[in-house]
Amino acid sequence: MAPILVFVAFLATAVTEVRAAQCACATGNVNVRSGVGTRYSILGVLRVGRCTSFEGDRRYGWVRVNFKGRNGWISGRYVNIQTCSGSSGTSGSTSSVCPRITSRSEWGASPPRSTSKLNRPVKYAFIHHGASAPCFSQSSCSAMVRRYQNQHMNRNGWSDIGYNFLIGEDGNVYEGRGWDRRGAHTRGYNSVGLGFCFIGNFMKRAPNSAALNTAKALIACGVSMGKIQSNYILRGHRDMGSTDCPGTALYNIIRRWPNY
Ligand SMILES: [Zn+2]
Repeated sequence: MAPILVFVAFLATAVTEVRAAQCACATGNVNVRSGVGTRYSILGVLRVGRCTSFEGDRRYGWVRVNFKGRNGWISGRYVNIQTCSGSSGTSGSTSSVCPRITSRSEWGASPPRSTSKLNRPVKYAFIHHGASAPCFSQSSCSAMVRRYQNQHMNRNGWSDIGYNFLIGEDGNVYEGRGWDRRGAHTRGYNSVGLGFCFIGNFMKRAPNSAALNTAKALIACGVSMGKIQSNYILRGHRDMGSTDCPGTALYNIIRRWPNY
């Protein structure tokens, strides 16, 4: 028995030491340079929504990456560091990483009463908050999204949940009307933009980094898939109408994001 036990113990140790690979994913088209700072030469461009492997070093706000097999540096302002999905980034190749989207059937959506198509790519990305209690797990966020849908359909009389996507502080995206259907979120602009709603109330506190990073990745993903124009305009709901949405704390953050 002893050799088997030792072998099993070895296997368990080996498995726990495998870390998920980390990727640097571009939130806008960004130059990859040979060193830290803009005086270094440009090795190439990491396009919006594309990812390459993060090599673990950060210096003066820059991050070190493996870019097509070469050592490169990118300003941390233009990338999210996130877990690579699939085989992305593992060999220094670039890949597109879109966050996984929790489907309507997964969160238990009611079917829409009617739908209308959106002309893509859209010019605007709008940020909202639900002004509700927060959620930090897939089950509690799913329940909150069902509650939003009930309010929108039964109290407001809309055809479906208003937002195109919702983001929880569990770090997950929840599919609302999705990329291709016109939403009900930003009066006067629903036919030219997508509505992204953070679940919770962000007047006084900011969403956690999991939610913020997921939202940035989702917008970059929309650009890389041709759903959002590459020169899109990012706005908070309050920029387009008289509302507190998306909350002052969140609004102050998105004003520093690309394309605001
Ligand atoms: Zn709003």
